[in-house]
Amino acid sequence: MVVVGSGPGGLQLSYALRYFGVPHAVISADPAPGGMFRRWPFFQRLLSWTKPFAPFERGTRFYERYDWNSLIPDDDQHRAIQPRLMDGTSYFPSRAEMEQNIATFARETGIRVRYGCRWTGTARDGEGFRLRTSAGEYRARVVVFAFGLAEPWKPEIPGIEHVPHYADTRAPETYAGKRVFIIGKETSAFELANGFLPWARQIVLASPRPTQLSVVTNSLVGVRARYVQPYEDHILGGGVVIMNASIDEVARTGSGFRVRTTRSDGGGTLVFETEDVIATTGFQPPLGDLPELGVVSSGREKIPSQTPLFESISVPHLYFAGTATRGAPGLKKNGIPSSSGAVHGHRYNARILARHIARTYFGIDPARPTLKRDEVLGYLLSELSRAPELWHQKSYLARSLLWDSARGIIDDGIVPLQLFVDGDGPDGVAVAVEANPKAEIYPAVYVRKNNVVTEHLLPTNPLLDFETAEHRSQLTSVLAPLP
Ligand SMILES: Cc1cc2nc3c(=O)[nH]c(=O)nc-3n(C[C@H](O)[C@H](O)[C@H](O)COP(=O)(O)OP(=O)(O)OC[C@H]3O[C@@H](n4cnc5c(N)ncnc54)[C@H](O)[C@@H]3O)c2cc1C
Repeated sequence: MVVVGSGPGGLQLSYALRYFGVPHAVISADPAPGGMFRRWPFFQRLLSWTKPFAPFERGTRFYERYDWNSLIPDDDQHRAIQPRLMDGTSYFPSRAEMEQNIATFARETGIRVRYGCRWTGTARDGEGFRLRTSAGEYRARVVVFAFGLAEPWKPEIPGIEHVPHYADTRAPETYAGKRVFIIGKETSAFELANGFLPWARQIVLASPRPTQLSVVTNSLVGVRARYVQPYEDHILGGGVVIMNASIDEVARTGSGFRVRTTRSDGGGTLVFETEDVIATTGFQPPLGDLPELGVVSSGREKIPSQTPLFESISVPHLYFAGTATRGAPGLKKNGIPSSSGAVHGHRYNARILARHIARTYFGIDPARPTLKRDEVLGYLLSELSRAPELWHQKSYLARSLLWDSARGIIDDGIVPLQLFVDGDGPDGVAVAVEANPKAEIYPAVYVRKNNVVTEHLLPTNPLLDFETAEHRSQLTSVLAPLP
């Protein structure tokens, strides 16, 4: 099998495949590990945190909940690499620290990648594929694309071709004293606006719909708190303007640009004269010829549509890893999406995918431990309170136990919740951590009995402690139908 990409997605998958004993090749167009983090975020600091000091010891599985950026091994020796490399000035690692974190994981765990090898085309080969690359042809029964979502995308606006994309932003000091018009109001727009605060004379952010803030949506949806400063500046009238307006046209002038907009509130046309315009209008995956092969994608971002196990819904044996796994949306309970767009979410998807591939294509089925009936309650409550997979991928990943007639109660590991809820199978239970727009975080329990699944939501707790007497008592009742 072949994995394309050496960002966090490809490397995490390669690690897990090797752990399961699956022979595979990793190819990457890059010269070194790190993927997108070799260049971005532009202002050189991440939006995902790592807490050097946390309620759990570094180097344990439970610590992962507080470290969003390290890749995850299956031994303690290679855990928590990111906090080792941080200089203490911020709990958001710098871009360089993140790149080093990923490179260190690859080096210390011995992941092998053929760098400088670009995938250029794809053809079917019986049940499998032939991949054309800059270094010759690869034949593979299974292919996983961990090619990221970093190809600049711009909407069709007259004159937009003159406008640099986020990817082409210049050094910050070159914006000193200038008016900067940013098309877009999502995280990358706010990252740039935040970075320009000490430089630009005026910053305008415009797009048709209002800004969403993660601290208001109570989820990862919206601009993250880390970049909210321009929003406060706007509210206080400090020089940042945040507008709900469609961009009708961008024209070059002698000294810069003229941007014609129409206000979303019906207030008519507004024209801006500005020295710089930047399009922070999004990214797409580098799909290459996959659409011609039959890979179906959806939405503005053209992310390939996937099954809950990250396989293309239209081309069998073709899978995705890394940030592209956003194409497996899960249940989206309460409208809250998965965290698969970021490392702390997709690192767990990779482990699930590796196990699936090992089983399905290579006949490798790692032993699953069993539990005694009187261990079930405590185990599930402990997982609900601490398991990083459940905390990072709320309503998306679950711990599943299956009641097997021959072996007893089997720990089926971390599984996509959707697979458990929608799929048939032996009686069992899956537990997930869930959240709602009221900012409540609480345990959810799904019991499958004779292929009918029932959902039970347990109470939240101010200290997020799900091991209280109340939780024990409620979970005991919920589990009663299981022998
Ligand atoms: C501006 C920006 C800031 C972000 N900040 C954060 C953050 O702070 N924290 C966070 O968790 N996430 C962040 N993300 C999301 C981030 O993209 C993912 O979390 C993560 O980097 C994606 O990993 P990946 O391995 O899927 O893809 P990438 O890191 O993009 O890696 C893709 C790999 O595929 C290879 N590749 C692509 N095309 C080919 C080809 N044709 N042939 C061979 N190889 C190819 C590339 O060379 C590269 O090695 C950010 C995204 C953007 C756009």
